[in-house]
Amino acid sequence: MSTSLNPFEISQQQLDEAAAILGLSPAMHDFLRTPMRELHFSIPVQMDDGGFKTFQGFRVQYNDARGPAKGGIRFHPDETIDTVRALAAWMTWKTSVVDIPLGGGKGGVICDPKALSEGELERLSRGYIRRVAYFIGPDKDVPAPDVYTTPQIMAWMMDEYETITGRHLPGIITGKPVQLFGSLGRGDATARGGIYVTREAARALSLNLQGATAAIQGYGNAGQYAHLLGRDLLGLKVVAVSDSKGGIYSPAGIDYGQVVKWKDETRSVVNYPGADNITNAELLELEVDVLFPAALENVITASNADRIRAKIVGELANGPTTPEADTILYNNGVTVLPDFLCNAGGVTVSYFEQVQNAYNFYWPLEEIHTRLDDKMTTAFHAVHQMAQQRKVHNRLAAYLVAVQRVAETVALRGWVK
Ligand code: GLU
Repeated sequence: MSTSLNPFEISQQQLDEAAAILGLSPAMHDFLRTPMRELHFSIPVQMDDGGFKTFQGFRVQYNDARGPAKGGIRFHPDETIDTVRALAAWMTWKTSVVDIPLGGGKGGVICDPKALSEGELERLSRGYIRRVAYFIGPDKDVPAPDVYTTPQIMAWMMDEYETITGRHLPGIITGKPVQLFGSLGRGDATARGGIYVTREAARALSLNLQGATAAIQGYGNAGQYAHLLGRDLLGLKVVAVSDSKGGIYSPAGIDYGQVVKWKDETRSVVNYPGADNITNAELLELEVDVLFPAALENVITASNADRIRAKIVGELANGPTTPEADTILYNNGVTVLPDFLCNAGGVTVSYFEQVQNAYNFYWPLEEIHTRLDDKMTTAFHAVHQMAQQRKVHNRLAAYLVAVQRVAETVALRGWVK
């Protein structure tokens, strides 16, 4: 087995395993292994000092057999085309596993958004849309937020697209501010969907989560809302959280409101009073009931998987666990809720946002929550049933469900048989 940490190679390796079990034809397997389209471009941006800087950007449409490509745009200094390809592949399986009529895509810019002023960030965001405007569209490819991109960035991007096309087309992008054609419930949707899936998994395992302990690696949008909703909807006691600077641990539990305030003031959770500082690596190995990786790829690998002591790993991040680690966790009896199932709440509410934009009619919050719960619960049970039937781990089961659906549409379209 390969020990590559290249996310795209990992995504291909995961697909290969599913293709073999599903008995996909070599032609279908080959077609599904690579993106259908990708765009690489440069974005010149005028900086506040008057000088210019050129940023590298990407947009990958991995597969649009089930509907327009869908997926976020990531702004990150370590972004690579292979990361974007992997994330676009995972979006394809994600929209399929929750059975929404969309394909998979992803975008990215190599940049450090924390080092940009607001004006520079706005010019970069608008510059991105100027490069991809002809490539995307409400019926072609619909971007959204991802790591380090925000509702404000979506607002600038939507405005740029509408300015270029001269039309009102809010469905060009999702994750917009609620005041600007966004959907209620999109803000916490990724975490909320993960919490619903965790609830179903605990039921299936006959595990009582009331007062159970949890650790959260990553404290951005998904991690923070997982803390709040894990407490409010499941009764979880969060004993450890971390961000890119490090983590904190308190067996007595960490107060959501207090730690968010601390992070807002100091820009990190580290040194939060009343908790001990720990490293991200230590957090992952804590003896807790539920572990939520909610940051980046490749944090649970062959080198630490044996030391993961959580009963449930709910992957709110994309790609946190490598294939070798999956096997180790499965053999150790750890229940993994795989990324493209567990974090599909974000894109599911993005889909609801698109539907509302197309209707020009907006739903109340309760309706979003009920519909999201229904989608996530149905998807969990499809995957859980497949895992039991085939005696495979949940990620492979999720692949079997998702790839089968995509392959069927590809065959029905007559692209590949
Ligand atoms: N970036 C998120 C994800 O990885 C959301 C994508 C979307 O809403 O289209 O699922």
